[in-house]
Amino acid sequence: MPDTAPVLEIRDLHKAYHDLEVIKGVDITAHRGDVVSLIGSSGSGKSTILRCANLLENSQQGEILFKGEPITWKGNGHDRLPADPKQVLRIRTNLSMVFQQFNLWSHMTILQNVMEAPVTVLGRDKAEAEEAAHAYLDKVGIRDKHDVYPAQLSGGQQQRAAIARALAMEPEALLFDEPTSALDPELEQEVVRVIKSLAEEGRTMLIVTHDMKMASDVSDKVIFLHQGLVEEQGSPDELFGNPKSERLKGFLSSTV
Ligand code: ADP
Ligand code: MG
Repeated sequence: MPDTAPVLEIRDLHKAYHDLEVIKGVDITAHRGDVVSLIGSSGSGKSTILRCANLLENSQQGEILFKGEPITWKGNGHDRLPADPKQVLRIRTNLSMVFQQFNLWSHMTILQNVMEAPVTVLGRDKAEAEEAAHAYLDKVGIRDKHDVYPAQLSGGQQQRAAIARALAMEPEALLFDEPTSALDPELEQEVVRVIKSLAEEGRTMLIVTHDMKMASDVSDKVIFLHQGLVEEQGSPDELFGNPKSERLKGFLSSTV
């Protein structure tokens, strides 16, 4: 596989829930180090695209390529499913997802949350996984919280723990689904700071966000979705500074 292949490439993606087609032919490419933000109204299909990319949802048409390797499918239309469970696992562990509601395991300490998948999915040595987990918790600024349970943390701390958990898989790319929208404004910023630092490290990230300032600060490319189609895309300067479509202009004026 050539090194120049994008980390993630989505071509002509179509997805319907039963009869309702919600993604109608979307293309997204993220090269290594790219930060791509997806913006758009509620219901425009942002979460669905992330979930399809990660194979948490099936899709009926289109290709998804991970580092140039296409997902192999079996079946057609609504019966189309990934054909190779090993490929699914490889891709899911390489596209680590961070959810709006954190999705930490409530019965595990923060350290256990971060160590769990590296040990059980990647087969890492426990002591090594623990050492790495402490380092990731340090990176997101909550090293001292390793021994507590998620409910004992603020939302911002929980989300940073979820980011540490995603990083612990050493993924090729991180997928964020509205990582700050469940947070109070004062807690939002501590998560934004972590995402900015990851962008500065050159991580490959696909970020669904309602936070236009963050999208503008961290992205190489911003994609505006409308009803399951890309309505407009470009650099943050182009999209936020010089929006062309009336829909994007309307969307931006409604979000300030
Ligand atoms: P966004 O993340 O941009 O708000 P979603 O991807 O969640 O949008 O949703 C896109 C469309 O798909 C919406 O019309 C939503 O109601 C619909 N949808 C999302 N998830 C489901 C589901 N599990 N079953 C049926 N419809 C769904
Ligand atoms: Mg969503």
